[in-house]
Amino acid sequence: EKAEVRATLSSLYEGVSSSRGPALGFIRSRVEQMSQEWIQAGLRMKQQSQNNTDSPQMKVLLYPGVLAGSAGQQFGSMVEKGGPLGELVQWADLSACLTILGHNLTLITSKDHLHSLIGAAPGRGSCPIQRPLPFDLIYTDYHGLAHLQGAMGLAFQHYQCRFRILDSFGTEPAFNVDSYARSHGYRTSWGSWGLQPLQYMTMFPHTPDNSLMGFAVKQEVRTENRKENMAVVYGKQEYMWQGKADYIQVLSSELEVHATVYQPPGGSALLPPAVTNHGLLAQDHFHLLLHRAKVFVGLGFPYEGPAPLEALSLGCVFLQPSLMPPHSPHTSPFYRGKPTTRKVSSQHPYAEHFVGKPYVWTVDTTNLTAVRQAIRDIKLTQVKPFTPREFTCAGMLERLQAYITHQNFCNASSPTWPPEGALRSHLGPLGQSCVSVCRWSGLVCEPALFHRLNNPKAFARLGLSCSVSEQEVNHLFPAYSPWGRRCGLQGEPLLFSCAGSDPQLRRLCPCRTYPPGQVALSPDGL
Ligand code: UDP
Repeated sequence: EKAEVRATLSSLYEGVSSSRGPALGFIRSRVEQMSQEWIQAGLRMKQQSQNNTDSPQMKVLLYPGVLAGSAGQQFGSMVEKGGPLGELVQWADLSACLTILGHNLTLITSKDHLHSLIGAAPGRGSCPIQRPLPFDLIYTDYHGLAHLQGAMGLAFQHYQCRFRILDSFGTEPAFNVDSYARSHGYRTSWGSWGLQPLQYMTMFPHTPDNSLMGFAVKQEVRTENRKENMAVVYGKQEYMWQGKADYIQVLSSELEVHATVYQPPGGSALLPPAVTNHGLLAQDHFHLLLHRAKVFVGLGFPYEGPAPLEALSLGCVFLQPSLMPPHSPHTSPFYRGKPTTRKVSSQHPYAEHFVGKPYVWTVDTTNLTAVRQAIRDIKLTQVKPFTPREFTCAGMLERLQAYITHQNFCNASSPTWPPEGALRSHLGPLGQSCVSVCRWSGLVCEPALFHRLNNPKAFARLGLSCSVSEQEVNHLFPAYSPWGRRCGLQGEPLLFSCAGSDPQLRRLCPCRTYPPGQVALSPDGL
């Protein structure tokens, strides 16, 4: 049966009842608030793709492991106290998106429910009976992977090609292959599941080694957008404000400063006196506040959340701290132990690198003169509401539709999407990763094309003559070493990696173009 675009989200509401706790309540209300936009985007997509063949209807299980078990209760209760909401934003948007695309969804948030749906049936004695998996795709997260392994037993390995992992901050290939991670110092408590790196789906395009899941930013349709001389500070919890008094002081000398910091019952948050605190707001009220504001102001934490994009979509400028030296798992408690080598150069690197001025201003906030100057410049800058296409409903539908149609990790042969025609081979300079090599040329690294560069002919086409060719298990390969003209081929396809560099190596990089504002996809026809 073909998946048909739906013009209603009613089938989703049956499974997501607000009475099942604050987290599902958040998901439900977010979906409801954006329902018209999802439906309209779906209808437009249907009109435009008349001649395209639809994908088959998939049976999809959504299992946010973060909401299951005892950790789940804690996470849920944090929702109303300023805890992290980014993951819930993604679960809400993913479920809306898959419903519109016409797939058959089951969303569950308990381990018991998981066991009853996919657990091995109790057999005779200690030998459980494996049942065929009743889902074509399972979206879960790192917590959920462990639960799935517990529930599925041996079938876990067999079916792991059907998993998709929501992984906000990303997993680089070197961390993903257990034996390699152990012997090369990339072991973390998260990585090492040995999935295809593209099965991990991130919130922003952190490393192209993973797929971008993203989320959708509501497009407010308001004609008038008169901005008051007002700033809203990005920081839901009091601790985020610590050590920022001077920065806030400069801000409040130029603008009226508003905040939405959670206030404990009976208490109030300790903020600088010039700040008007509204307490944590429901999302629609938070958006009304942003709509009035001229600028949304980052404090340096939380990193890489959805709120700055919402602010841009409501016509705010986003002002944020640069992080010098960049934060990384070596230097920041937050990133410590995360399966990535990324160097995070500001609170929101996507806003910095993919959006930039006049919408996004990244400043050294310890330099108060620079801060004051930036605020004065911002006051003189007019911006229109802006959302990169990949973070609209239409962009997210288009991207997920492409993934569901083309990404197949159950087929043992090399990937066929995107096709070879999309490949732009680049030879990097010494010490550069393919992420930056491709970015320098206005392209993006495409890991699904690495296998096309992993042969002696590819080296020759790039003008390299090898005195030695060797195959090795190394996440930087294929690569060329000018010392001894050694050409290194990759011996483990799971280790093809856009991320990673070495001062002694010139990497062979599979880059491709992308349409404006949709980095995950090749342009039409490819
Ligand atoms: N948000 C909200 N009320 C507020 C402040 C924020 O509902 O007073 C919402 C905001 O619209 C965003 C979500 O919280 O969609 C997540 O925000 P953030 O960027 O802080 O990311 P997090 O750190 O929670 O993942």
